[in-house]
Amino acid sequence: MRIVLLGPPGAGKGTQAKELVTKHGIVQLSTGDMLRAAVAAGTPVGLKAKDIMARGDLVPDEIVVAIVSDRIGQPDAKRGFILDGFPRTVPQAAALDRMLAKKGLSLDAVVELKVDPDILVRRIANRVEQMKLRGESLRPDDNPEVLKQRLAAYAAQTAPLVEYYRGQGSLRSIDGMASIEDVASAIGRALADAAFRRGSTRKAGRGARNSSSGRKRVGRKAVGSKKPVKKVVKRAKAAARRKPSSKASRTKVGRTKSAPRRSVRNRQKSNKAVRSPRLTK
Ligand code: ADP
Repeated sequence: MRIVLLGPPGAGKGTQAKELVTKHGIVQLSTGDMLRAAVAAGTPVGLKAKDIMARGDLVPDEIVVAIVSDRIGQPDAKRGFILDGFPRTVPQAAALDRMLAKKGLSLDAVVELKVDPDILVRRIANRVEQMKLRGESLRPDDNPEVLKQRLAAYAAQTAPLVEYYRGQGSLRSIDGMASIEDVASAIGRALADAAFRRGSTRKAGRGARNSSSGRKRVGRKAVGSKKPVKKVVKRAKAAARRKPSSKASRTKVGRTKSAPRRSVRNRQKSNKAVRSPRLTK
């Protein structure tokens, strides 16, 4: 199972990711954690990311994409993963699609945790208080000023991903304001529904999943591939060219008045070509 958790800072992505790890035995890949580890270790990536993160801005796409690409190729991610904090921009989402397609994989679901922005500020303040009480060291970006910048970065750069994934049909929106248990149950239901829909598409025959690529197939067209559509258009054009036309059978505006009889085979072919694009939607 491969899931993306989407939501602003403080939406509860980390908490829910941990629940999913226990439930499904898959790994949590948090780019925030990976970058913090790089900063702590003083690696070249960490040195580049340190100040950007402390300001609440986003680390450049190419750095984060390289880290994720490397991470999802590791053996423990084979069974599946939950991406928490990635993708955060549309180019990152497009890079993830390419990364997965190269491996013949796709996402099972993108879960959006919807939350009230005013309450987020209170949630983070509570988190900071609890960490202080436990004597844990605070993240340099866990303060009200930087939080505002993190929320602004989310609104400007990450929120457009909701439409990106809605367009792909993989988005599941959950009310993130409910209790941790209720949010976890809602995510469970959303994932079961996503799995059911994939299963029923598979059973429908035409929508069988291509086992080698892992891509969903609808009719003759693999989702995400434009090739078969071209093929269909090409066939339609060829069928139109085959259609005999004479001056006598044309009206003034050049449209066929009474088309000469076509052979049954030709008729079937061109009908199919015209119908196919609708089947591929
Ligand atoms: P939050 O608690 O705000 O959701 P994270 O722990 O996920 O934050 O990330 C902390 C910081 O790490 C971000 O504010 C950003 O600077 C950087 N970061 C994490 N993931 C990404 C990403 N996918 N792209 C760019 N920057 C990222």
